[in-house]
Formats: sequence, structure tokens, C-alpha cells
Amino acid sequence: MLFRRLGLALILSLLLVLCSASAFCVDEGDFACVGAKVYPSPTDDPIENATLMVHQGKILAVAPSYRLKNKFPHAAVTIDCKDKVIVAGYWNSHVHFETGWHDAANASAKALAAHMQEMLTRWGFTTVWDLGSEPNNTLALRQRVESGEVPGPQIYMAGDIFPKNGHPVYLPPEMQLPEAATPQQAAGMARQYLEMGLDGIKLFTGAYMGSKPTVNMDTAIVKAAVDVAHDENRLVFAHTQNRVGTDNALAGGVDILAHTIPTEGSFTAEELARMKEQHTALIPTLTLWTTVTQDPQATARLVQAGVAELKSYFSQGGTILFGTDVGFVSKYDTIQEFELMSKAMGWRDILASLTTNPSDYFRASTKGRIAIDMDADLVILDGDPAADVKNFAKVAYTIRNGRVIYQKP
Ligand SMILES: [Zn+2]
Repeated sequence: MLFRRLGLALILSLLLVLCSASAFCVDEGDFACVGAKVYPSPTDDPIENATLMVHQGKILAVAPSYRLKNKFPHAAVTIDCKDKVIVAGYWNSHVHFETGWHDAANASAKALAAHMQEMLTRWGFTTVWDLGSEPNNTLALRQRVESGEVPGPQIYMAGDIFPKNGHPVYLPPEMQLPEAATPQQAAGMARQYLEMGLDGIKLFTGAYMGSKPTVNMDTAIVKAAVDVAHDENRLVFAHTQNRVGTDNALAGGVDILAHTIPTEGSFTAEELARMKEQHTALIPTLTLWTTVTQDPQATARLVQAGVAELKSYFSQGGTILFGTDVGFVSKYDTIQEFELMSKAMGWRDILASLTTNPSDYFRASTKGRIAIDMDADLVILDGDPAADVKNFAKVAYTIRNGRVIYQKP
């Protein structure tokens, strides 16, 4: 029954703030999920028939239910989680608050909440990286999410820098893009983004120009932006588009490749070695390759190459971060991404790409695992991803900091 029978709002309104000398205070929002199978991390064995207790947005306890009996006040809200599976909240390390997110400062909270649910929270995302949108718009959206007005994930944001004359054909020509012609300009743009409160930088080291040749960013320009970001302990993503863009990104020291490069067929041995050595992370965005051409054979080739590239880096121990480019693409459903990734890696590795890999890579030490004192960022699933990776997408509840931000109708 979970929250359904009583309704979460009613449950919470019935909850009084209780304290006793010996026990912890029970606050509004505290709850316990009882009877679930909990995967504390991608490498831990599951805890069967577990009780997971949440207090003040943090995980208070997680253990087999029999061990926690009578240890906590009865006033805590109990939720029946029998037949459910609980994993840590997901990260989507490549999204855009672009298409359909216009005027986030003034749009109705209801409309924003509905779009947030459709695009992100119903798929389990509690933390996302916006890799390029109108920065002030995303900052306004982030503020409305953080105020509690719009239920949504934690939003990190990267500011875009394009190469000179590198306005990608898929972006509206009237859109003003920051193009850097020199290292000095790139450094200035990077500084400005970080001063605005953005969390990272994204470089278009390859800009797609349609029938004309891809415009690449020179390594010296890449390096100038990377140096500014790294001086501030910030990370740099790259949209590389092709081999030259990838090699310039790696030579300039970027941290994360925002896509595979399926038009090139594979990464070279030198690229893979350099990525490994520099601890570069890779975001596969495999579903994206099903959307870029109408030709089924070309699509199949791109997807196959993307999977092969993912497999080649993953098998060498490379860090993989889950990401889908939603908000640029309108395909929000994550099932296909899980299915394609499973051709290259196991379900536990996919779970790592959703949880521990990003929390480690982005140094979010209170996220990514289910353990005492960690943030109560949780996904409650209706199926076990160990049995079928499609179950990663069967989300019953998405919980961020102990607050339900999505509940399956
Ligand atoms: Zn993107």
C-alpha cells in the first residue's frame, strides 16, 4: 500500500513532532520503509526484508527489519515496502533545461512541476547536470526547486563555450552563443560562468555544421578554459563530435566526455589509454544515436558503435556516468538507455553509473549510497534491476532529502 492508502499529505499532517530523552526526535517528514529489498550500493549484497528509516532528510538506519524492531518510536510513519526494491537516488549527468523550459522565473509552479515529473523525477533522478541552457533561466529554475516550490532534483549547471564560427546547425541561428576565438576569451568566459554561480564548464570541442566540416576548438583554447575551472576546483565537460574534437579535449585536460563519438566507429587505443590515465569520465548517451538520422541502417551502425565505444572504455576500467541528453531530445523514457548499456556492462555497473560513480566523481560525499547519515535520496522500484535492467525505470517513488518528489499515480 505504501503511501497510497492514507495519502502522504495526510500521513505527514498526522505526524506530531515528538522527542524523548532517550530517542531521536520524530519530525514531520520522517518515515520508515518496511519490507523492501535494499541495495546499499552497486557492490554490496542486498539487504532482504529491510527497514530503512529516514530522519530529517538523512538515512537514520538501514538493516534487516527484525534487527530494528522496538529500536525507534512508534510515532514514525511506517510505509509498507514489501515487493519493492530500494536503491540510491539516480544522477543524470547530461540534461538540458532547454526545450519547453522557457521563462522558468515566471512560469506557473504547476506547469514546471508537471514537466519536471515527465522529464526527470518519474525516472528516478534526484541529481542532474544541466550541460548547457540559458544560464539565467536554469538558475531561476534551480532557485524555485530549492525553495520547495517545484519538486525536483538537485541541479548542477555547466556554462557552454563554442569555437569561433562553430554555431551547431541543430541550434536556432538566432540563439546567441558564446564563441571563443582565443585562449584569453575562453578563460574570460569560464571565469564569468563560475562567478555567476555555475558549477562547471562545457566546451564544444567539435561543433556539428551539417553538410559543412565540423568546427573544432584548438587545444590551447580548451586548456585555457580548463585551467580556470580546475583552479576553482570545477570540472569541464566536452561535446567532442569527432576524433579531432576528442583528441583536443583530452590534450587540453577536460574531465568528462559528454557523449560517445559513434561517427568515428571506435576510440583509438591511444585515446583509451589517455582517458584512463587522465581519469576521464564518459557519458554514453546511446539512445541519442537513435534520434539523429531517419535511416534505419545508419541508426543501427551509430548505436552499435556507441555501444562498442562504451564497452571498450568500461572494460579498461574507465568511469562511466549515466546521461541521456533529455531536454535536448524529447525522448524522456530511460528504458532504451538501460537496455543499450546492458550490451556493454552488467546491471551493477549501470547502477554505479547512476549512483556511486557520479557522487564520487563530482565529490558529493553524502550521496550515491544507502548508509547511515547519507542524504535520503532514494528510488523505490517496482521491480528488481538484477532480474531485468528495464526495472531501473519502474519507479514507484523518487525521494530527495527525505521528501517525495515523485509518486507513481
Ligand atoms: Zn547535450
